[in-house]
Amino acid sequence: MCTKHQCHIVPQHILEALSKRGNNNCKRTLNDTRRILEKRNIVLNSLLQQTSISGKGDRLIYDSESSFQQRVTLARSEGDENSTDDIVNNAFETSGFVRDYFKNTFNLDSINGEGMDIISNVHYGTQYNNAYWDGDEMTYGDGDGVDFKDFASAIDVVAHELTHGITQFYANLEYQGQSGALNEHFSDVFATIIKQKYLNQTLEEADWLIGDQIVTESFPGVALRSMVAPGTANDFDSQPDHMTNYYAGLDDNQGVHINSGIPNKAFYLCCQTIGIDAGALIWFETLKLLWRTANFDDMLDVILTTTQTLIDSEKVPNSSLIAIIESFASVGITQKESV
Ligand SMILES: [Zn+2]
Repeated sequence: MCTKHQCHIVPQHILEALSKRGNNNCKRTLNDTRRILEKRNIVLNSLLQQTSISGKGDRLIYDSESSFQQRVTLARSEGDENSTDDIVNNAFETSGFVRDYFKNTFNLDSINGEGMDIISNVHYGTQYNNAYWDGDEMTYGDGDGVDFKDFASAIDVVAHELTHGITQFYANLEYQGQSGALNEHFSDVFATIIKQKYLNQTLEEADWLIGDQIVTESFPGVALRSMVAPGTANDFDSQPDHMTNYYAGLDDNQGVHINSGIPNKAFYLCCQTIGIDAGALIWFETLKLLWRTANFDDMLDVILTTTQTLIDSEKVPNSSLIAIIESFASVGITQKESV
């Protein structure tokens, strides 16, 4: 059973911190969260009763026309000419790039593997400071121009949110505690991979930041998160980069956007040894094998088995197993002795 799940790119604790500093648009964005959550639960219950949502993986971009409604006016669909609205065109391009990456790299046919159409809504609300996946479609605000700007054009935001869709249809990691932190982790992993592909960057050129394109000059930081240095992206970034600083509190669904810093750092370290393409394959195959309540130890067990299988079939370098063990050990995640 899918449980309550808020897949917003800007975490609640960051919106709260900005609200306390006087940004009323962040407060209004927070107030909308409850309504979105209720819709998502209805969508998930409905999806669970369907055997298949097949399609051609077409992109459909709707314009919310500053209302808090989805699917208001169809602004561009597959095969259409460019729109006169740049944000419509950007959402079309970014969602297509993410779809094509998964198809060309893993032969994944859209988000659910069955060609589900990819629906996006742009210009949602007024001065709306977030973007989210709510079970069957994407929605993007324009940002208030104070702390945030145009969410639909940022490739890592689009990739992060669409990966929540893939996770929902495969591992369906429960959105709380360690399984929730893994859910966030996989979205950041494919966000950073796809961003590097989109920008045609090498490992060294990449900044490993998540959300750097959606923050303004006055935002107190450079991005929402950093995979190379978790905890350093902004004034409210409390991500640990090691299990010794694991967050055990109740905020943020028991730290889903906080503790994801730990496996994020492991992914960054691993890629320094085996490269991003081998990393992508190992993480994607692992995601397909995980389950709703999987925790960090389960992740390590599954990723080690997956890596060995991929080494045996000569799809990743022989050094991958050691790289995984050492990267996870560097952040304090090690295999437990069997009793
Ligand atoms: Zn997320």
